Amino acid sequence: MRHARLFLTFTLFTAAAFSQAAARPSAKLTAEQRTAKYFDSIKNDPVRLRMFLQAMPKGGDLHNHITGAVYAESYIQWAVESDLCVDLKDKAIDDCKPGPDGAANPEQRPARAAYTDPSLYRELIDVMSMRNHAITFPHKPGHDHFFDTFLKFNRLVNERRGESLAELSRRAAAQNILYLELTSTWDLGVPLSVAEKVEKERAARRYIREPDLDLEDLRQQLLDAGLGAASKSAFLDHAEARKKEILKCGTPGADPGCNVVVRYEAEALRAFTPVQVFSMLVWAFEQNNADPRFVAINMVQPEDWYVPVHDYDLHMKMIDFLHKKYPKVNITLHAGELTLGLVPPEVLGTHVAKAIDQGHARRIGHGTDILYDPKARERMRAMAQKGIAVEISLSSSEGILGITGARHPLRQYLNAGVPVIICTDDEGVSRSDLTNEYLKAVLDQGLSYADLKRSSRNGVDFSFLAADDKQKVKTRLEQALREFESAY
Ligand SMILES: [Zn+2]
Repeated sequence: MRHARLFLTFTLFTAAAFSQAAARPSAKLTAEQRTAKYFDSIKNDPVRLRMFLQAMPKGGDLHNHITGAVYAESYIQWAVESDLCVDLKDKAIDDCKPGPDGAANPEQRPARAAYTDPSLYRELIDVMSMRNHAITFPHKPGHDHFFDTFLKFNRLVNERRGESLAELSRRAAAQNILYLELTSTWDLGVPLSVAEKVEKERAARRYIREPDLDLEDLRQQLLDAGLGAASKSAFLDHAEARKKEILKCGTPGADPGCNVVVRYEAEALRAFTPVQVFSMLVWAFEQNNADPRFVAINMVQPEDWYVPVHDYDLHMKMIDFLHKKYPKVNITLHAGELTLGLVPPEVLGTHVAKAIDQGHARRIGHGTDILYDPKARERMRAMAQKGIAVEISLSSSEGILGITGARHPLRQYLNAGVPVIICTDDEGVSRSDLTNEYLKAVLDQGLSYADLKRSSRNGVDFSFLAADDKQKVKTRLEQALREFESAY
């Protein structure tokens, strides 16, 4: 009996001592450290990692093209609702055109056929995205297929802008993303029709091409021809009103997507004539100048095609000129979305430097060819010093350029101290979302919890939100991070 009591006392004592010893180190850990510890225990498990990252508050997605972010299923639905057709040759959504003698057009099918014909439905999704790319299109490079998808749904992008905003906001809220900086052209018909008018006038006056472009004169001509008078906000007003209607914002049944803060970048397309590109740029700067919902300008389209390569310096000169006219307008530029083999080596490693030095870019989109810059190390160090961030989209770089794993310069950017923001680029085309981009950053690039948390914060810190709005989103993000980490 006595022995038994002694034994019991001993076991209770040792159990307590052991549990205290076990508790002591973890009791000292902060919530952040405990979260990082849990993260380290699941970082090779894609299933638990996805659940963790989906719940993790993600400050902002700063590189997100509205039209490429919408999923193909939505485009098909809108084509059906609008009674549009599918061109059978290239599977593009188009207006229905009558066949010979008013009979059915043998070159088209009504889009609604996709709802009764599963093979048409799946073909449309594959052609409008990277889904099954190498299987469905084994002989088409990812680069070509990726960029060709935009031609398939282009018919719908303007008239469904409000629906697109609703889809992206809803998806962001479901992943605990607080802020979206969405990029697109806005009312593209305005700068293109003005450019057409001006090109005719200038052709008549026999000067249209570089180096004859007098940007001062050309800007005035474009403003006078319609850019000055056109409404800078009407298109966005309409889209935002429709978004709020769909999400029931401001009502008791409001979708959580209503709480996602959204701002916009105005794009100019690179693969056009100099007058057209300049018209789109002036329009983008004018929109920023007129409406605070626009927070930056951007330039887009494949950097490897003839015109974007040939006119790159001219485009930077245009931006430099407009930067002096509109010094408060923020600039982010796709630059260096290139790799060896896609262009001659002489083109590689030049665009990022020019975008920063001549284009006044405060953020760089992709920057995957930085390693070919003879001064790559100094360039990255300078970016870190100046606080010029890089927007990294891993699925996009894989799909378009075939760059994966250690071949991506993400680790070098991090090592150099360049602020990195993990972004989606075109989540609909890539069949991804921001959570999946974070997941890839862990599984394929070995990013730590601290790296991801920094990227999440960078998504607000390096956004182009106005100072007071930025502070509000920062406060919300810190609160959300505290709540998230307190669960571990
Ligand atoms: Zn992009």
